Amino acid sequence: MTEKQKEILEKSAKEHGTPVFFIDHEKIRENYREFREKLPDVQAYFAVKANSNPEIIKTMYDMGASFDVASFPEFMLVHDNIKHLPEKERQDFIWDKIIYANTIKPAEVLAKLNEYKILVTFDNIEELRKIKKHAPDVGLVLRIRVPNTGSMVELSSKFGAHPGEAVDLISEAVNLGLGVEGISFHVGSQCNNFDNYSQALNFASSIFKEAELRNYQIGFIDKEGKKRKILDIGGGFPVKYTPDVKSFSALSVKLNSEIKRLFPKEDVQVIAEPGRFMVATACTLITKIIGKAVRDGKTCYYLDDGVYHTFSGQVFDHQHYPLHSFKGGEIKICATFGPTCDAFDTISLADELPEDLQIDDLLYAENIGAYTVASTTYFNGFPPPKVVHLNK
Ligand SMILES: *Cc1c(COP(=O)(O)O)cnc(C)c1O
Repeated sequence: MTEKQKEILEKSAKEHGTPVFFIDHEKIRENYREFREKLPDVQAYFAVKANSNPEIIKTMYDMGASFDVASFPEFMLVHDNIKHLPEKERQDFIWDKIIYANTIKPAEVLAKLNEYKILVTFDNIEELRKIKKHAPDVGLVLRIRVPNTGSMVELSSKFGAHPGEAVDLISEAVNLGLGVEGISFHVGSQCNNFDNYSQALNFASSIFKEAELRNYQIGFIDKEGKKRKILDIGGGFPVKYTPDVKSFSALSVKLNSEIKRLFPKEDVQVIAEPGRFMVATACTLITKIIGKAVRDGKTCYYLDDGVYHTFSGQVFDHQHYPLHSFKGGEIKICATFGPTCDAFDTISLADELPEDLQIDDLLYAENIGAYTVASTTYFNGFPPPKVVHLNK
């Protein structure tokens, strides 16, 4: 952050009170543009769960993004932006630009999704039977299990059909009279091992081939009347929280060439579900020192935000958000704690901060936009931070 930006944020935080969570919409637009420029043949479905702030969804919508939703309330958040459209356009938007990417859906939700004939993912036979019963008109994408090695957040133990069972599941779907439009996978979030993508693409390509050999028709008919298959490469696109994270540029080069090599025909429509990539770098948290103590010779700062709130990303997302001071001073190893009465509410035992900060001084944490405010609680009576939008 530049000195000028720091000054603006500090001033604004004083006006709004803390804790305060800034969302810079210009940065979101930049991230979206970068994604589209580097992966020009991949349609970007923003994964709403990374940060479901309605203004973020609106900005994404205005940029022309598509959406990955994973619950009915998330679907309604996206739907709020298309309420005004005439029915036909609204339905086209739902078909072209929304995927419901949670492979497990309650029966009641399926019944509601059926009205929208939305595209949904599945990865097991029980789900197929549920879909047959409650949502026979939705479109289907088979999610396969792929290596998640070297990703910060692992997903493969919970989701995805074994690639060896994929074609059998497709055949089950066909037998039930349901159409399968394509294949999806997720390499794990914050993926720093790009081989995961290569292996996953190879699996998907083999499954398409085997299904073809066995004469199962995968795909949908697009607007021009052409038959196409969906290849959904999921999320996982890494954010450079630290210098050791590999660049998205390098990943995009690899993805473009692998996709071209493995899916040479024009009949594949490639989509992705970036969550973190769009929002992580767009947000900054400002928190206030509300208490200070020296314990075992170490300076301890007590803050008005912590692990039950914006720093919940430390628990659920395995990410660290180093705190910085607006004031200068000799840097020491300090402990930082959240405001609740639980010792678990420890942000860090080794933040690098000046040790002569005072109560009411402000601290900030950058790159804190993904899987953070999304999982805050009201524990101990402390509400989530205020949200302030910049460059709306
Ligand atoms: C969480 C999730 C995403 C987003 O993942 P990122 O790593 O944040 O890009 C995409 N697709 C599915 C199915 C998910 O569960």
